[in-house]
This record gives sequence, C-alpha cells and structure tokens, in this order.
Amino acid sequence: PKKEEAAAPVAGAPAPVITGTLVKVNVSLPEAAQRAAATGADGVGLLRIEHLILGLQKTPGWYINKGKEEEFIRELYDGIKVVLDAFPGKSVWVRTLDAPTDEFRNMEGGEDEPAEHNPMLGWRGIRRDLNSPEQFRMQVETFKRLWAAGYDNLGVMFPLVNHPDEFIRAKAMMKRWGVDVDAVTLGIMVEIPSSAILIEDFIRAGIRFASFGTNDLVQYTLAVDRNNENVADMYMPKHPAVLKLIDLAITACRANGVECSICGQAGSDPSMAAWLVEHGITSISANIDAVPRIREAVARKEQQMILDMARRNNA
Ligand code: PEP
Ligand code: MG
Repeated sequence: PKKEEAAAPVAGAPAPVITGTLVKVNVSLPEAAQRAAATGADGVGLLRIEHLILGLQKTPGWYINKGKEEEFIRELYDGIKVVLDAFPGKSVWVRTLDAPTDEFRNMEGGEDEPAEHNPMLGWRGIRRDLNSPEQFRMQVETFKRLWAAGYDNLGVMFPLVNHPDEFIRAKAMMKRWGVDVDAVTLGIMVEIPSSAILIEDFIRAGIRFASFGTNDLVQYTLAVDRNNENVADMYMPKHPAVLKLIDLAITACRANGVECSICGQAGSDPSMAAWLVEHGITSISANIDAVPRIREAVARKEQQMILDMARRNNA
C-alpha cells in the first residue's frame, strides 16, 4: 500500500517533511496477535520470536542434534503465521532469534549452550545466526515457506548488528539458501552505537529499514545495565548522546528513502514519540497498551508541525 512506502529523499530540505508517521505495534506471543491488531496499528514493528522458541523448552541446537528440524520449523511457522494473518496487507517485521544464552541453559539441550559471564554482550542476535548456520537456516527456511505461501508482508529484522559486514554475510547466507534477497524486506535493529554511527554503510549494504532498539541502545551507549536497579536512575533514554545517535540515523535514513522506526520501550513514551516525529522518524512501534496514547501524541505533534509551517509560510 502507498502509505507503507518509505519517505522520499529530502536531501537539502530545510526541515523534516511531514509524511504522516505510522504507528505500529510490538508483538511477543502469537496469542497477543488479535489484541495487537484490534488497536488498528499500521503493522508490527517487532515480532519477537524468542518467547515462542523459549516456550518450546528445548534449544534450537537440540532440534538439530535430534534431527527434528522439521518440528522446529513447523512450530515457528505456525506461530508467525498467526501474527501475519492478523495483519493482512500490513508489514510484519519478524526479528531473528535474540535470546541470551543463559535463558537456554536450563532447557533440554541447554548443556550445549556456552556459559557466558555476560550474556547480554555475548552470543546472541545476529552473532548467533552467523555463527551457527544450522540454527539460522531453520529460521530462514521458515521465512521462505511463509513467503512462498504468499505472505509478502513478512520482513526480517536482524538484532544486535554492529558492523555492515554482518548484514552482508547474513544476506549472502540467505541467498545461498534460495532466498531472492533483493525481493524481500530485510532490515536491522539499531541497538548498538556502532550501527547508528555506521548507518550510511548499512544503507549502502542494502538495508530496507532500520529500527531503534532503545532498550539496548541506551544500555550500550551509557554503559548502564538495563536490568540493574542500582543504576536504574542513570538509565536515560533521553540522554543527549542517545538522542544524538538516533538523530544521526534518522537523518541518514530519510535522505536515502529508508524506513526508520523504533521498537524499543522509549517508543511507548508519548514525549519521546513527539520528539521522534519532530526529527522525522517514519514509524513508531509501541507496546499494545500504548498504541492509543502514541497515536494521539503523534497526531498532536504532526498537527503542531503543520500549523507552524503554515504560519511560517504566511508570515
Ligand atoms: C530493544 O533492545 O530495544 C529491543 C526492542 O529488543 P529487546 O528488548 O528484545 O532486547
Ligand atoms: Mg534489544
């Protein structure tokens, strides 16, 4: 649909062009798909599959060791399909597996998971995809079957990317496994400062979208553990350094017609949403409960921007 198209390049334009920010929704479990769709959201800006996979109580490696890849693929296929069916004609960005290893260690197959001193900085996200091709391939096979079944609203989002080469390598693997990588929607999460800093290189590498994972971007920019209450007061999504990284990435995305979004918790905060709209973000993906208030915050800010522009033009 027309409104899903990325914003046109605005190189040289004096102020952000108002295109109408989409408000999407985050989904973690297929059971929440109907409730998420009932918000009227413009799509799913983040479908987390780790809850679905952790719920199986077996590691992806267990399925491979037992020769039960088909079982894993079927579970994943069915779970994702429920969400795709709830959002016909609207984009659904499915994130590849992003569970830290410690969450797998007490499951069947958990003995093969590495024991890591700091799992949040360890073997998770795209690192795991690149480093364990068989596990990545089961996910890609699932996506392939969904695309083949006609779900062209499915996009794939890579988490914890910190170098364009990671995206290029993941894309090459998908291509080797028969995905027409130029015809499908592939993007990244911007949740490590390096990926915001190198955003133009990611754009050159062919990302179709970028989405701010502020939960991690804040912790990695400020060196503040997102789960440590001793430093909770230092965990500041609106820290100037975080905002500067976000602004940098939005500006580059807009200039190149790449959709720029947010799926971290900060996108469910109305004042942050207003700031993001003002700075030209294409879409905001909020928690289910937050969609109405984010819609309102976006509408207010857009109205204010339009009125300001009209007044300037009349002055
Ligand atoms: C984030 O980091 O902001 C994010 C959406 O991913 P997660 O919370 O699953 O790490
Ligand atoms: Mg994250």
